Amino acid sequence: MGISARIEVCLDNPDFNDEDSVQAEIRPKLDAVVGGLDELLSTVAQGRLLANGIQVAVLGRPNVGKSSLFNAMLGRERAIVTDIAGTTTDVISEAIHYNGMRIVLNDTAGIRAYVCSRQRSSGASINEIEKLGIERTKQTVANADVVLAIFDSTVGEDAEVLRLCEGKPTVVVYNKCDLVAQSLRNGRQGASPTIFVSALTGENVEMVKQAIFELAVGGAPRGAKLVITNMRHAEELRGARETLADIRCDANLDMVARDVADAVAHLGRITGKSASDAVIDRIFSQFCIGK
Ligand code: GDP
Repeated sequence: MGISARIEVCLDNPDFNDEDSVQAEIRPKLDAVVGGLDELLSTVAQGRLLANGIQVAVLGRPNVGKSSLFNAMLGRERAIVTDIAGTTTDVISEAIHYNGMRIVLNDTAGIRAYVCSRQRSSGASINEIEKLGIERTKQTVANADVVLAIFDSTVGEDAEVLRLCEGKPTVVVYNKCDLVAQSLRNGRQGASPTIFVSALTGENVEMVKQAIFELAVGGAPRGAKLVITNMRHAEELRGARETLADIRCDANLDMVARDVADAVAHLGRITGKSASDAVIDRIFSQFCIGK
């Protein structure tokens, strides 16, 4: 608004204001505003996690112990655990709290249908519900911040599940570690952090939470004074930033004025302030015109 007011004063009083010197005066100020907006925008990823929680897609073949681990992490019964393969038929979402952050576990049942469909070499049709399950699983993975891939320690990894995790930050978990000897756990070095857990005994369940937290939050800058948690605000900040950053060096003052007003309008949609009134206030307070 200060820049906007400075330009308005210059345009209204061309006799007293040299356009070149005003341009020279406002350029560093514009750069500073872009820098400030960049700083705010750098908190958006963190803000989204604060607002929505860390979205985790839980993937694994039937019977690897997804529901059991899910329950162990939640600390109470939520999903139904049975030893009949593929009993979980829907996506179940539940949140736990870890380090002041919500971790939302989205248990997917669709992997069953997905793997089955890949295995059918005959191309036999799969029913509509299974198809929906596949789509929902892919969607859950796409929307997730972190994928939790669960394997059975007595069986090992499988390629189909790993393929679904591709390109996503993934925590690989070997469940039922109570059933395998310690010696078998050694020498497992994958690209993703691998944790041997037992949903049954609770061994290393806390480590799973920690790994999810580290993957999602680890890289985010901490200690920012202000974190943008509202995605609409993020859009407006981005709009303001792009408008200001796109102002060309050779743009005349009229064009700069229009772009700055655009940027102020973006920010006004966050603060709820009418930009034009605020600029007029600024002109009066800063430049003592009309008094
Ligand atoms: P899901 O189909 O992947 O959800 O698997 P479930 O959670 O229903 O578990 C399948 C079976 O494995 C059940 O009989 C569980 O009791 C058993 N199970 C799950 N986790 C463990 C574990 O850590 N250790 C052992 N020994 N059994 C487990």
